[in-house]
Amino acid sequence: MTQTLSRVDAALEQAAEHCNALGERFTPQRKQVLALLLEIGQPVTAYQLLEHLREQMPGAQPPTVYRALEFLQRVELVHRIDANNTWLPCALDCGEHEHGKPQLLVCADCGRARELPLPEELHRALAREAARAGFQLDDRPLALQGICEQCRGND
Ligand SMILES: [Zn+2]
Ligand SMILES: [Zn+2]
Repeated sequence: MTQTLSRVDAALEQAAEHCNALGERFTPQRKQVLALLLEIGQPVTAYQLLEHLREQMPGAQPPTVYRALEFLQRVELVHRIDANNTWLPCALDCGEHEHGKPQLLVCADCGRARELPLPEELHRALAREAARAGFQLDDRPLALQGICEQCRGND
């Protein structure tokens, strides 16, 4: 537990510096939402997040969560997984997405996800092939779907 807390604290400290460097405000709400996501450590929906937040802040309203998530996504501290409409804290050090889209492995069975940074040349190859097809990639994560190790082990 102590280990978990220090991991979360370290990530929050880094997040605060990251926001500072971008000239953005790391408000108490933004920090609280990120702290919860880091503690949970798995993709959750905004609604699940709100339920957790209400344990600490009984009056918390959906816009608080949505606004914080939108901000955290914009500064790349969290990722939204469009496939199942969930949110996951970024597993990389702040600012490591400069060279491409975040890559996530998403389990179709249990919904767990983890970040899988791919080599830069792969990002470039993806962007190049997409551009050849007249398609411009945006910065949403690339979600690779499959079955995770735990779920495969349960067969
Ligand atoms: Zn990330
Ligand atoms: Zn799984």
